Amino acid sequence: MLNYAACLVVLSVLFVVLERLVPWRRDQKVLREGIVSDLLFLTINGHWLGPLLSMPWAYTWVRDHFDSVLGAVSLGGERTLATVFYLEAIALWPIWAQVALIFFVKDFLEWCVHNLLHRVPFLWQFHKVHHSIHDMDWIGVMRFHWMEKLIYDSFKYLLLVPLGIAPDVMLWLAIFSTFWGFYNHANIRIGMGPLRYFFNSPQMHIWHHAAKDPAPFLCNFGINLSLWDWIFGTVYWPEDREAPNAVGFDGDESFPRNFVEQELWPIRVRTLRPGNTNRRSRPLLRALGISVIVIAVIVLTYAI
Ligand SMILES: [Zn+2]
Ligand SMILES: [Zn+2]
Repeated sequence: MLNYAACLVVLSVLFVVLERLVPWRRDQKVLREGIVSDLLFLTINGHWLGPLLSMPWAYTWVRDHFDSVLGAVSLGGERTLATVFYLEAIALWPIWAQVALIFFVKDFLEWCVHNLLHRVPFLWQFHKVHHSIHDMDWIGVMRFHWMEKLIYDSFKYLLLVPLGIAPDVMLWLAIFSTFWGFYNHANIRIGMGPLRYFFNSPQMHIWHHAAKDPAPFLCNFGINLSLWDWIFGTVYWPEDREAPNAVGFDGDESFPRNFVEQELWPIRVRTLRPGNTNRRSRPLLRALGISVIVIAVIVLTYAI
């Protein structure tokens, strides 16, 4: 049985070594701005939050409780909401075939959610945390708000679990995604060559973070695959420039720079998007509303 935490340690060491062996931006410091905060993000998001929400037992736990809620809603006779929700379309497939199919479906779902994180002002407030990095390196992929993980995994749960995937499939894919996330953000001169039309890479993903640049604000949403950006026309990858002048987003000078303040950020922020500086949201009310719903769902699943 694979252990996610052990894989995370091995992958972390691998990318520390790779950034020394084949550096891309040689003048970038290892102890760069925000490194202490990002080590905290790596510990919390990588070692705790990620495994908590992505591991097989988490899916089993959620499914068991979710089942009891769906099973309680009768549709007449033997049929309940659970029998309709769980199609189990691939439950009997071999593991390798499930991994192959779900890899594509999951990556496309994540590409869609990533689009939403940029296009919906309320969600962008959470995603800003990830885009606040100024020096891209492997560890930067772990800088994200806990709510972002919840949003990604809620979509994945609702759309993938009904297919009847084996819990181990999610573990294999979580490890691969961590590897590719480290790679996309790493300061290494290893590109994808002709495979760039299929796989994401550091040379492509850095333009996604280049909002301060002439680069478009909405581009290169790929997670593991670049395929979806090529298909849907959201690629930005200039041939005459190797990297943007700077990464970040408009207005990030006033964005909090440490772990605690970034985790609290969407609760106390005004909505400020590029070119949209006067809008004020009511994030506290929204955060409270979401918290109440989450707590109610948890209490309900325990009570049934
Ligand atoms: Zn993004
Ligand atoms: Zn990124």
